[in-house]
Amino acid sequence: MAKIENSIMIVFGASGDLTQRKLIPAVHSLGCEGLLPERFHIIGISRSELSDNAFRNRLFSGVKEYSRSDPKVCSLWEGFGESVEYLRGEYDKQETYDALNKRIQDIESNDRKNYNLLLYFAIPPDVHETILKHLNRSGLVGSEGRKVHIVIEKPFGRDLQSARELNRLVHESFGEDQIFRIDHFLGKETVQNILAFRFANSIFEPLWNRQFVDHIQITVAEEVGLEHRAGYYDHSGVLRDMFQNHMLQLLTLIAMEPPAVFEADALRDEKVKVLRALNKCSDVVLGQYKGYLEEEGVAEKSKTPTFAALKMFVDNWRWKGVPFYLRSGKNMKKKVSEISINFKSVPHQLFGQSNGGSSLRPNVLSLCIQPDEGIKLLFEAKIPGGPMKTKTVEMDFSFSSGFGKKELPDPYERLLLDVMKGDATLFARSDEIELAWGIMDPIIAKQENSEVAIRSYDTGSWGPEESNSLLSRDGRRWITACCEESELLEEKENGVE
Ligand code: NDP
Repeated sequence: MAKIENSIMIVFGASGDLTQRKLIPAVHSLGCEGLLPERFHIIGISRSELSDNAFRNRLFSGVKEYSRSDPKVCSLWEGFGESVEYLRGEYDKQETYDALNKRIQDIESNDRKNYNLLLYFAIPPDVHETILKHLNRSGLVGSEGRKVHIVIEKPFGRDLQSARELNRLVHESFGEDQIFRIDHFLGKETVQNILAFRFANSIFEPLWNRQFVDHIQITVAEEVGLEHRAGYYDHSGVLRDMFQNHMLQLLTLIAMEPPAVFEADALRDEKVKVLRALNKCSDVVLGQYKGYLEEEGVAEKSKTPTFAALKMFVDNWRWKGVPFYLRSGKNMKKKVSEISINFKSVPHQLFGQSNGGSSLRPNVLSLCIQPDEGIKLLFEAKIPGGPMKTKTVEMDFSFSSGFGKKELPDPYERLLLDVMKGDATLFARSDEIELAWGIMDPIIAKQENSEVAIRSYDTGSWGPEESNSLLSRDGRRWITACCEESELLEEKENGVE
């Protein structure tokens, strides 16, 4: 494992939600597991008036509430709190960066050590340009003896043009190997397990193609609504918020060819090839949950979609003609993120059909990303006793029973560690981001030009009825095998009476 060198984490947007709820709790868990470098400091910057102590208290309350490691059990914070400081400043004032430089020098001269810098942009995207320019002017972009890594949160741009412009701006100061465009979905253990499942086992990969797979479904359903983020969400909608990043990332991991080596660029090259082969999507269903317009902060008559379902094709040798159905939405029936690989039917129905019975259910392999992390394989089994009748049953692997650990690490833990190590395998490269926007832009344009109707749907449903039609007209239907009581197992028996 690469050695992690002494680091100062500089958080822009330190008074915000992400810092308190995700970043610092993740740092705390890393520290409790002994994974932080020997010397580690945090400097938080934002415009709010806060003393060092008030800032530390704020972060500690986030640690108590959100960190995987209980501070009553792990005493890290007691000494660690002293390594956390706050700098109030305006992002467009040079004095902020002068003060930052001074703080860094003070830490280095007190410790008589050099530090690498981890610059974390936990701020709204419209401030990126200002900060980047000042960092460059202030020499905070890397020098001999000091590595500087920069983390940029999603959304990375709001369309292809703005993403290109942001890439250009970041590249003015940083090399691609210094830039970490974060998509926390890639930090999830279950998402990384897609790669292990596919490429560390020999029995599944031979089936992973158009010859055996009928279609693939990706569902990322949220039970929650806007959660006070109306200002951001109403300007973004589900296509920008979920599809350009998380949904396409999942699709590329499922569809990619095996890379020759498990290294950042080899992996990202393969993902990029999938994005290049992704066909223009013509089948789109958009929805908005009932009551969205009454939410605080949502524009009057807003047409922002909170649900989308797309049918896409990956036009290459492996996947030609295999539909990928993607759906994601807010205020849906269950919180579930799941990828299901739906295999083709058996070529000849030995049990059932010739005798007037119902046809057999094709096999389904479901990768359950959250909340019930695991893998399920649905297959037919003979019902004991009596005639040859079958029923769908499941083989079930769950992370909690397989590995005994109750709680999986938070994605930010893994990703922050990777940034410190300089490992960009689980981060998006500039071309990947731009290709993903290039795929979503025409769909978003259709939505914004009102070329696609926005259907309303009930809170607590699986989205508008038209989403079901997207599959039913192909003779298919949505599957949620990962939900605890999957309806698939309760269905009728098949076979000879
Ligand atoms: P917040 O709205 O909580 O704000 C973050 C910080 O930005 C605050 O510290 C605020 O500090 C500062 N800020 C707000 N507006 C401005 C402005 N116009 N100019 C300068 N500073 C400003 O955001 P989050 O913490 O939720 O998110 C930060 C970034 O991370 C966003 O890009 C978001 O999309 C992304 N993100 C957030 C997630 C989350 O769970 N929260 C998840 C994934 C991505 P102050 O006013 O004190 O300067």
